[in-house]
Amino acid sequence: MDTSAVTPDGRLREKLNAAVVFLGPPGAGKGTQAKELAKKYCVPHLSTGDMLRENIAAGTPLGVQAKPLMESGQLVPDSIILKMVAARIEKPDCSGGFVFDGFPRTVTQAQWLGELLKQHGFKQPVVVHFVIDPALLMRRITGRRMCKIGGEIYNIYERPPIVPNRCDSDGGELEQRPDDREEVVAPRLLAYEKQTAPLAAYFRRLGRLREVDAAKGVSEVSQRVLDIVRGAE
Ligand code: ADP
Ligand code: AMP
Repeated sequence: MDTSAVTPDGRLREKLNAAVVFLGPPGAGKGTQAKELAKKYCVPHLSTGDMLRENIAAGTPLGVQAKPLMESGQLVPDSIILKMVAARIEKPDCSGGFVFDGFPRTVTQAQWLGELLKQHGFKQPVVVHFVIDPALLMRRITGRRMCKIGGEIYNIYERPPIVPNRCDSDGGELEQRPDDREEVVAPRLLAYEKQTAPLAAYFRRLGRLREVDAAKGVSEVSQRVLDIVRGAE
């Protein structure tokens, strides 16, 4: 890449000015890549899963409703998600674009997103589809650990921290998400197949779908993601 396009701390000088959607099954690497891309462009990383977990941690009524559904691998109702996303998009930090991770997850959410983006002056999203053999997902999901402080994502098998159970960035303790236990993986993958996988065809029809081979290493995937985002109009 042209070095003048990048600041000394690795951020891109160009603006995103677009809505990016990361679509793919749980464990495909969406969160890992979304954090990185959002940082490069200085735009918000909008993970509906993280928003719901924050509500659970804060004990809000929304969190109380979402918790049992999440812990059993089911999707949270569209009405809850739509309200949460609408409120987030209103915030001024979203004016230059954003990266959605884990949203939309149903056709209703995708249709509604199209309307919301129009209202906010954005085109249809650039959708990056993380394509991966489901056989690889169990290890990625059950090995995932997240920092309690900053939410950094590790994997005890594939991407371990330098000091066991401590975040490399802030030393925070790492924890396993309750829905990353082996017994919750099957219902989550089933929910993905039934409710979310059809979105690939939906966005392909709109001419907005781009694919990445998510089985590759993190840096290869991030290079491909960046090429897609930069090439999209
Ligand atoms: P998702 O957000 O799609 O559920 P994550 O980004 O949280 O996925 O990644 C799932 C797990 O796989 C994490 O433990 C992460 O560290 C690991 N991971 C992410 N990308 C890769 C990759 N390209 N190769 C190997 N492991 C990865
Ligand atoms: P994630 O962090 O994306 O893996 O999401 C964790 C869980 O949060 C999912 O299994 C769902 O229960 C819930 N969730 C997150 N995003 C959505 C969404 N867009 N629609 C419905 N449920 C969601």
